[in-house]
Amino acid sequence: MSANTFLNYINGEWVGGASTFENRNPANTEEVVGLFVKGSPEDIAGAAAAAQAAFPAWAAMPAPARGNILFKAAEILDRKFDQISAEMTREEGKTLPEAKGEVRRAINIFRYFAGEGSRQPGLLVPSERERVHMFAVRKPLGVVGLITPWNFPSAIPAWKLAPALIAGNTVVLKPASAAPLSAWRLVEALHEAGIPKGVVNFVAGSGGALGQALVDAPPLKAVSFTGSCEIGNWLHAEASRRRLRIQLEMGGKNPTIVLADADFALAVENTVNGAFFSTGQKCTATSRAIVEESIYDRFVDALVERTRKLRVGNGMEPGVDIGPAVDQGQLETDLRYIEIGRRECGEPRCGGRRLTGGAYDKGYFVEPTIFADVTEEMTIANEEIFGPVLAVMRAKDFADALRIANRVPFGLSASIQTTNVSRVFEYVYGMEAGLLTVNLPSAGVEYQLPFGGSKDSSFGPKEQGPAALEFFTDYKTVYLKY
Ligand code: NAP
Repeated sequence: MSANTFLNYINGEWVGGASTFENRNPANTEEVVGLFVKGSPEDIAGAAAAAQAAFPAWAAMPAPARGNILFKAAEILDRKFDQISAEMTREEGKTLPEAKGEVRRAINIFRYFAGEGSRQPGLLVPSERERVHMFAVRKPLGVVGLITPWNFPSAIPAWKLAPALIAGNTVVLKPASAAPLSAWRLVEALHEAGIPKGVVNFVAGSGGALGQALVDAPPLKAVSFTGSCEIGNWLHAEASRRRLRIQLEMGGKNPTIVLADADFALAVENTVNGAFFSTGQKCTATSRAIVEESIYDRFVDALVERTRKLRVGNGMEPGVDIGPAVDQGQLETDLRYIEIGRRECGEPRCGGRRLTGGAYDKGYFVEPTIFADVTEEMTIANEEIFGPVLAVMRAKDFADALRIANRVPFGLSASIQTTNVSRVFEYVYGMEAGLLTVNLPSAGVEYQLPFGGSKDSSFGPKEQGPAALEFFTDYKTVYLKY
C-alpha cells in the first residue's frame, strides 16, 4: 500500500484490504487526496464483533473518564487544525474558511459531549409510597452503526460519534466515499487519545456494498444515518425488520420567506448565503426563495446583482466564495436540474452553465443559478437538487408564502426575513420544519441545541445538544424500598 493510503480501523488496529479507492479533489481532479482501503462485508462483521467485545468495559468506565478521552481527542484535532481544514477543502471542495468553521465545530462538539460525561442526567422523582426511592438512570444501547454523508465530512461524524461514545456505546462508522478523510482524522485522533481497542471502528467503502452487512450485523442495536431519502428509507425498512433503533436525517427543499417589511439588504445577503455558500450542498441550504409580491421584482434584481459578484473557484484560493460540486455525479445532477428549470420556466436570471476554461476544466464548477417566476408545480420547486440552484417564487402575502413553504413533503429547515414580530410568531408556530431561522440564512446551525427535521426529512429522535443522548441511551428505572 502506498504512503498515501488510509487504512480501516478495526479492533484498535489499522487494517488493509484487497483493494483501494481514490479520494480526488473536486476542484482539481488531477489531485488524488488519498487512497482508502475498500472495506468488505467481512470487515463490517469484524468491526461489529470487535465493538461488541469492547462494549462491557467501555460502558462500565465512568462517563467522566470517557469524557477525558474525548477532551484529549479534541486537543489532538486542535493541534492539526490547519492541516485537517485544508484536507477537507481538498477532498470536499468547500472553501477553506468554511472548512475551518466546520473543523472548529467538530472540535467543539467533541468538547461539548466530553463535558456531558459529567452530567448525563437521569430522573429522580418522589414516590407515592413510604420509604421508596425511585429513579431512572441512562444506559447505553450497545453497538451502534453510524453512516455519514460527504457534505459535512467532519461535523456530522463528530456529532454522531461523540454522543454515542460518551453515553457508553461502541461504534462502527461508515463514512461517505466522496470525502472519507475528514472522518478518518476524527478516528485517528480518538486512537491517539487512547480509546480502548474495539470501541471505535472505521470501515470505508461503497455504501451499496457495506450497508446490508452493517444492518445485518448481529451485535448491532441501532443505526444513525444522514444522507439521501432514498437510502434512508431503504435502511429504515431493513432496520425495522430487526427492530433496530434508527435515526434518519435526510433531504430538504428549504424555503426562505421574504416579506415586504424585511431589512432588504440583509434579506438579500441571507438568501444568497443560504442558497449558494458551500455550493448549495448543505442539507439546510435555501433552495426556494418565496417573496412577497410587492417587493418581488426589486428583490430578484438585487439577488441577481449580488449573486453575479460571487467568485467560483478552487476553495483553497483566497477570495473564492463557492467551490465545486463534490463529484461528477453531483455536477450532472445540478446540470440536469438546470435543464429541467430551463424547460419549465425559461432562461435562468443568472448562471445556468458549467464553468469551463483554464483551471475550471480540472474541476466540477457550476455557476450559481437563479430561476425567477418559478411556480408551485414545477419540478425545481419540489425536488431536492443539492446544488447552487435557487428557485424564486411569488407570494401574494405572508399567508400565501407560508402555504407555499409548507406544501412540499420535506421539513428540514426554513428561514423568514421580516421585521414584523407577529409574522415571526405565526411562522414559528405554523412552519412545518425542524429548524427555523429568523433574519438569518436557512443554513448554519450550532451544536448546543437539538438538530433535525420533520415530515419526510427525518425520522427518530433529534441529533446534537442534550437531545442527542435520547437516541444513544435508554432508561433503566429503579424502585428501591429502604
Ligand atoms: P447518500 O448517497 O444517501 O449517502 C449517505 C451515506 O450512505 C454514505 O456514506 C453512503 O455511502 C451511504 N450509503 C449509500 N448506499 C447505502 C446503502 N445501501 N446502505 C447503507 N449506506 C449506504 O447521501 P449523500 O449523497 O452522501 O448526501 C447527500 C444527501 O444527504 C442529501 O439528500 C442531503 O440533504 C442529505 N443530508 C441531510 C442532512 C440532514 O441533517 N438532514 C445533512 C447532510 C446531508 P457511499 O458514499 O459509499 O455511497
